[in-house]
This record gives sequence, structure tokens and C-alpha cells, in this order.
Amino acid sequence: MQRAHLEWPFFEAHHRKLAQELQAWAAQNLAPHHLQDVDEPLRDGVSSMHQVDETCRKLVRALGEAGWTRYAVGGRDYGGVFESIDTRAVCLIRETLAYHQGLADFAFAMQGLGSGAITLHGTPEQKARYLSQVAQGHLIPAFALSEPEAGSDVGAMTTEARPEGHTYVLNGQKTWISNGGIADFYVVFARAPGSQGSRGISAFVVEADAPGLKIAQRLEVMAPHPLATLHFENCRIARSQLLGTEGQGFKIAMQTLDIFRTSVAAAALGFARRALDEALHRATHRKMFGQTLADFQLTQARLAQMATQVDAAALLTYRAAWLRDQGRQVTQEAAMAKLFATENAQQVIDAALQLWGGLGVTRGQVVESLYREIRALRIYEGASEVQQLIIARELLKAYRTEGVTA
Ligand SMILES: Cc1cc2nc3c(=O)[nH]c(=O)nc-3n(C[C@H](O)[C@H](O)[C@H](O)COP(=O)(O)OP(=O)(O)OC[C@H]3O[C@@H](n4cnc5c(N)ncnc54)[C@H](O)[C@@H]3O)c2cc1C
Repeated sequence: MQRAHLEWPFFEAHHRKLAQELQAWAAQNLAPHHLQDVDEPLRDGVSSMHQVDETCRKLVRALGEAGWTRYAVGGRDYGGVFESIDTRAVCLIRETLAYHQGLADFAFAMQGLGSGAITLHGTPEQKARYLSQVAQGHLIPAFALSEPEAGSDVGAMTTEARPEGHTYVLNGQKTWISNGGIADFYVVFARAPGSQGSRGISAFVVEADAPGLKIAQRLEVMAPHPLATLHFENCRIARSQLLGTEGQGFKIAMQTLDIFRTSVAAAALGFARRALDEALHRATHRKMFGQTLADFQLTQARLAQMATQVDAAALLTYRAAWLRDQGRQVTQEAAMAKLFATENAQQVIDAALQLWGGLGVTRGQVVESLYREIRALRIYEGASEVQQLIIARELLKAYRTEGVTA
């Protein structure tokens, strides 16, 4: 894995040290992409899910013991490495883990996404109860926003939270919930009865054993990881489980996604970088027509294109991460990073697979696994079309107020 980009001015000495240490740890501790022990049992339903769950739990523990999950939470008093989440550190971790193993990246990312709302809006009591344990890999969190009829259109959610005495009573359904089925707690977004759109939504911490919360269905996807539909049926939780204040939920969800959107770009970058390395390896070793695949100019053009896409994605990703760490609002930059890095990683991986020929589509090959891993990143945490709308909105807003784009 090339580390030349660590020389870029976006990073500080501690970032470079982190990336090098994690690279060494990942090479030693993670089963490579094609040997993830979840691959093979994918074909037989129940046992495959069980194995994915177990692998995920093990990964969270291992990431916790090694100290990496401490970067996923903010607040030194609660186990975090820094007072607030350092976006560049999170991005470097995701890039490195994704390079080695998709499920390890997923496990790390979810420790952050699932607990992000608590880092941002938790009371000291909530932080003490949940964050320290998430930081150590002892508790697994989840982020439950999407519903069957409310994916991109978050404001269409119908899950209700009815205040009743010292409690809230939740009714409704959430779906596509990563870590669903293995999470110890869920940050759940639900609306006040009678409210509409983004108004009236609040965020709650619901522990997995809360009465009335049921895993309704486990979902199997092309790159296996724990995913489920949740049902809430008169699920009663204490008032103290509210995050922030009533009605703040939409803002809390968007702020949480804002932290992690750039890191999705970083994960895509890790997958793309791995694909480029795999392509270089195959092209320089595959003999044909009396030379190697890499000797053909058509191959060289393809490799040049891939390398340029990877570097451009890295520049956009770490620009957004660096700006965010300077305290700047990065709505547009994060959207550009996610859009470009995920769309281009898909192309880079496809090109790598093409260079591998028939072997590329064979189960057990790294490029085949990358091909499946990358797809969902163009959909979750805001599909590419949603990112395009965000970029255009910001662009037009700036043009209308300032009359210039640069
Ligand atoms: C693997 C995976 C993990 C996930 N994990 C979580 C999780 O942990 N927690 C959670 O809450 N959710 C999670 N999700 C849900 C995810 O956030 C939604 O899938 C996503 O927001 C899109 O919603 P949808 O699937 O309902 O698609 P829809 O909203 O139905 O959109 C379908 C397609 O329409 C297009 N589109 C969307 N908006 C526009 C527009 N304005 N103009 C033109 N085209 C548009 C896009 O191409 C989009 O893919 C996960 C999803 C996946 C696939």
C-alpha cells in the first residue's frame, strides 16, 4: 500500500504515526479480503448470518483492545483519544482497514456512527454509560434512522415516540439498520405524534433488551454484514434516554452523518487503492502474446486513469477532513468527497477486475470481494444523487449571495 499521500500538508505528525502503526497492525491481525471467514458460508442462510455476527463481534473486540475504536468517540473523559472526533484520524483508519478487510472497516465505522449522536449531544451520564464502553469495544452501537418508506426522504419517517409520564412509548419500524441483531443499543429517531416533515423528530438511546423492541428480519446483502429490520411495539423507555432536547432529532441525525460522510469517502479510497495494487500485481505478472499485460499501452492507459482517480479522491477526501478539523462547515466538500470517491472507486475496482480476466469474477479473489464491497457506499449515508443535490444547492447559494464560485 502506497503511503506517499501521508506527506501531504493535511496531516500532522500524529496522523502519520497512526497510519503507519495501524497499517502494521492490520497486516498482522486481519484476514485478507478474500479470506474473510464470512465469504464461504454466505450461501447457506442462517449459519452465514451467525458467522458474520460472530466475526463482527470479534473484530470490534480486537479493534477495541488495540485502541483503534477510541478514535471513533469524542471526549477524553469517556475513552476518546481527543476531546472531539478527529476526522483525519477516522478517515485514515477507515482507509487502512478498508484496504485490508471490508468487515473490519464496517466494524470500526459503526462504533463511530452508532455512538456519534451521544458524542455530540449526550449528557455526562449518557456519555459515561455508553461512550467509554464503545471506545473500548465492549458495547456495539447502531444508528436507526431509515424506514421502509423513508430512506433518502428522512422527513417521511413515521415511527412515533409518545410521551407518557416519565417514559416515551415507541411504535414503528426501522430498516437497513447496520449492526441490527448484534447491537447492544440503538440510537433511534422517532417523531412526536401529529408532527410532520423534519420537525418533531427526536433521538433516543434504546437498549437492545428494551421490552417491545424486536428484530423483525435479518437482511442479507452482497457484502455480508449484520443488517436488520427493527420493530417497535409499545416499546417503553425512560425519559432519560432522550438525546438533546425534544424536536432536535433531525439536526442530530444530520450532524452525526456530517462527521461520518467524509469517512465513507475514505473507505471507498481504501477499497480503490487496494484494487489498484491488485491490478498492478496482475498486470505485471500475467504473461500473454510474448510479454506481460502491463506492457500493452491499453493497459497502461487504464492504470494511469485508475491512479489519477485514486489520487483525486484522496485529495477531495482529506481536504474535507482537514477543513472539518479546522472547525469549518464542510457540507459541500464532504458531499464532493463522498460522491467522487465512491463513484470512482466503483470504476477503479471494475477496471481492476477486468485486468484479472476470468479470475476476477471468481469467488475468493480480492477484486471479486472489492466489487461487492463498494456497491452499497454509493447508496447509504446519502445516495450519490443526494450528494449532487447538496453540492448544487451550496454552489447556487454561494453564487446568489457572493456572485462568484472561487
Ligand atoms: C448496506 C446498507 C447499510 C445501511 N445502514 C444503515 C444504518 O445503519 N442506519 C440507517 O438508518 N440506514 C442505513 N441504511 C439505509 C440507507 O441510508 C438508505 O438505503 C439510503 O438512505 C437510501 O434510501 P432507500 O434505500 O430507501 O432508497 P430511496 O430513498 O428509495 O432511493 C432510491 C434511489 O433513488 C435515487 N434518489 C434518491 N433521492 C433522489 C433525488 N432527490 N433525486 C433523484 N434521485 C434520487 C438514488 O439513486 C437512490 O439510490 C443502509 C443501507 C444499506 C444499503
